[in-house]
Amino acid sequence: MTDATIVGTRVGVSDAVSRVSTELFIDGEWVESTTGERFEILAPATEEVIATVANGNADDARRAVETCARVQKHWAKTAPRERSVILRRAYELILERQDEFATIMTTEMGKPFAEAKGEVAYAAEFFRWFSEEAVRIGGDVTSTGDGATRILVSKEPVGPCVLVTPWNFPLAMGTRKIGPAIAAGCTIVFKPSELTPLTSLALVDVLVEAGVPKGVLNVVPTTAPGEVVSTWMSSGIARKISFTGSTAVGIRLLEQASQHVMRSSMELGGNAPLIVFEDADLDRAVDGALAAKVRNMGEACTAANRIFVHRAVADRFTEKLAARMDALAVGDGLVEGTQVGPLVEEKALTKVERLVADAVERGARVVCGGSRPEGPGYFYPPTVLADVSKDAALMSEEIFGPVAPIVVFDTEDEVVEIANNTPWGLAGYIFTQDVDRSFRVSEALEVGMVGLNTGIVSNPAAPFGGIKASGLGREGSTIGIDEFLEVKYVAVPRR
Ligand code: NAD
Repeated sequence: MTDATIVGTRVGVSDAVSRVSTELFIDGEWVESTTGERFEILAPATEEVIATVANGNADDARRAVETCARVQKHWAKTAPRERSVILRRAYELILERQDEFATIMTTEMGKPFAEAKGEVAYAAEFFRWFSEEAVRIGGDVTSTGDGATRILVSKEPVGPCVLVTPWNFPLAMGTRKIGPAIAAGCTIVFKPSELTPLTSLALVDVLVEAGVPKGVLNVVPTTAPGEVVSTWMSSGIARKISFTGSTAVGIRLLEQASQHVMRSSMELGGNAPLIVFEDADLDRAVDGALAAKVRNMGEACTAANRIFVHRAVADRFTEKLAARMDALAVGDGLVEGTQVGPLVEEKALTKVERLVADAVERGARVVCGGSRPEGPGYFYPPTVLADVSKDAALMSEEIFGPVAPIVVFDTEDEVVEIANNTPWGLAGYIFTQDVDRSFRVSEALEVGMVGLNTGIVSNPAAPFGGIKASGLGREGSTIGIDEFLEVKYVAVPRR
């Protein structure tokens, strides 16, 4: 086992970060909050303050949602092609500024620069995708069974939307919602995470430059998310909530949504199983596990949280995975060569430490990693735990760190049962070369997305989302825009 050492450090704040507008964006203007309060943004790699941002409150939130009410009707009537052109232009502008966005994201959130560039491309693609969907919002003409009446079905924008995003994919979680909302003709009040608002504020400039009209997009960062978001939810103006974040907050928002019977899309937490069968191509399984575990430092809702390996291949798989994880360079994401950045905040680090200590107490063996290096920075090394007990806390809690707990199993029925024994159902991964088993287990897993011999499921062309406590609705793909559309039917008798 190597010691966890940190590759390089950096000093100062880059120009890309200093250039970001740090006010609220309401009714087409950058404004301070009504109280004039601001809050600090920390770099997780250095624990330095990199910016302060206007701290929105209920009064600011009210102004933002009232702006939506004023412009919604007009915006809904714009030509689909006009909305499509805006999104296409925004896609191009994001890519032109790929390095800038990646620098901001790495600084405020921690992921390695190369991964941040990957997220920028992924995030931009939602705008290109939905620029293409904007002009394909269809309808239908059918008939009643007796042939007496035509049924004309059309789709209309749902109305003002509340969009709330987490910190772990600061750009993509925003574009995945803003893209279809604009394509559908909805106005927006948007609250990015208080840990990573700079990326979203930089996105505002792109959207304004691309032609989003005044008032259509309103952004209110805040350290009082409950106050700001509940102002929108109780306004009677917003018709839709699209939320990505933890299940606990999602449930609270669903309760609020019920008061005005708002349409709700929820992308919530996960507890993904990754299953390696005895007939798997082990190198492919290790590649997949590495991608599903270490990408984004394990801070992904789709991260492999529980790794189940058949007894016949458990030792070989564990050895190979540990060798790869142990060799990864941990460091400041802006320093070249870094493969694993810091966790987002101190709280995240202590949670990972608690989960690892609990697993070890219940008999787990630390194969690599397992203890945090000295600060500054919220670093945790890639860690492999073998012989993990099924009742360890990390089997039922999202780890959100680069920790791979390995549990040995003996039969397919047994592993499917344990894999499904969780309230969550977002993603699952299967590694096998047996065709029948591939289909059988894909069908048996209670999840919204399955990676079959792959550790990555996210793609703008694919329907992203979960079942059970992992959420409601789907983002991306041809069905993602439907979350922002209402269906209207007109009965036309044949005379
Ligand atoms: P979080 O629930 O703490 O915060 C998410 C957002 O909700 C933030 O913007 C936060 O400010 C806001 N929020 C917090 N309290 C609120 C309240 N009372 N009312 C309204 N808004 C409130 O989650 P997080 O820590 O930012 O993100 C991590 C979680 O997100 C994990 O559970 C992860 O699995 C989940 N996630 C899910 C997906 C998905 O697509 N299913 C994607 C990314 C992250």
